[in-house]
Amino acid sequence: MENLVHTLEVLSNAFGPSGSEMEVRQLVRERTEAHAQQAYVDALGNLLLTKRGTKRDLHVMVSAHMDEVGLMVVGYTQGNLRVATIGGIDPSILPGLHVLVGRKKHPGVIGVQAIHRTSHKSREQSPDIEDLAVDIGAQSEEEARKLAPLGTPIIFATRFHAVERMCSGKAFDNRAGCTVLTELLQGDPFPCDVTGAFTVQEEVGLRGAGVAAYAISPDLAIVLEGTVADDLPKKESDVSPTTELGKGPAITVKDRSYVTYPPLLRHVIRTAQEMHIPYQIKQPGVSGTESGAIHRVGVGIPSITISVPCRYIHSPVSLLKLDDLENTIRLIQAVLSTLPSDILKIK
Ligand SMILES: [Zn+2]
Repeated sequence: MENLVHTLEVLSNAFGPSGSEMEVRQLVRERTEAHAQQAYVDALGNLLLTKRGTKRDLHVMVSAHMDEVGLMVVGYTQGNLRVATIGGIDPSILPGLHVLVGRKKHPGVIGVQAIHRTSHKSREQSPDIEDLAVDIGAQSEEEARKLAPLGTPIIFATRFHAVERMCSGKAFDNRAGCTVLTELLQGDPFPCDVTGAFTVQEEVGLRGAGVAAYAISPDLAIVLEGTVADDLPKKESDVSPTTELGKGPAITVKDRSYVTYPPLLRHVIRTAQEMHIPYQIKQPGVSGTESGAIHRVGVGIPSITISVPCRYIHSPVSLLKLDDLENTIRLIQAVLSTLPSDILKIK
């Protein structure tokens, strides 16, 4: 079996902003298809792989979104590209970054004025996205249009690094979740049927997950994420961290989009305790997850989100601990292996 770090590296380096998940889909497909009895790509681009269980008493959807935040070409200033964001990105982190433009990965730089050319006042202001431009070395608008037509997606050019038990790279939200799901599908069958859903367009509004849940129509859903860890040196204004690195998988009780089905929450926590797997309860934040889209599909699908804590998500580079990735895999494996058949009847 492929080394876990290598899977994360390959997926982290891949090109996959929302709506352009093809490369990520291909990479996860070639690693998981042989381990599933059924695999298909739906009309939106979700990859669904069903692994039949030994008992087949329940059918569980386990989802991980493949897309990452990025930029899109929306205009030109002479040879430079005007851009808009795909998903949530703070424009103030962008100036001076390396980017890759389009699926052919043409290199570009987000232009920044040399300090010799800027005033004190201008340096105090954060730029709006409209103020920024991507320089791809084109000499004219015509040349820029040819290299990067309107609508071309752009990603951060960050490369993955692993040093001992710490990994850094782009798009750990949610290539960490994709790595966990890949590993789960590659393992032995579970008692229940499991359909792994590598979904599209989460970062622009949880769009793939609802469609996937409708097609799968599972009894329960587990959503895998790479989530915010803000366990950083404290400033006075800081509130408590959402999650912390090294403290194990983060379990969501409630976020902006859903409340976890209590029997499923109890089962996950009990399993972690019995298996001596460290875990943490995610502090409520402002964001939602795919559980928000999935739990309202059809007649209702009890859902839970379990995440690998990652620092600096939605930026050019995130940081995670391998221990958290491994413990998330162990926890989901144990949860799926011990799901009580009557979990839907427990009140
Ligand atoms: Zn995410």
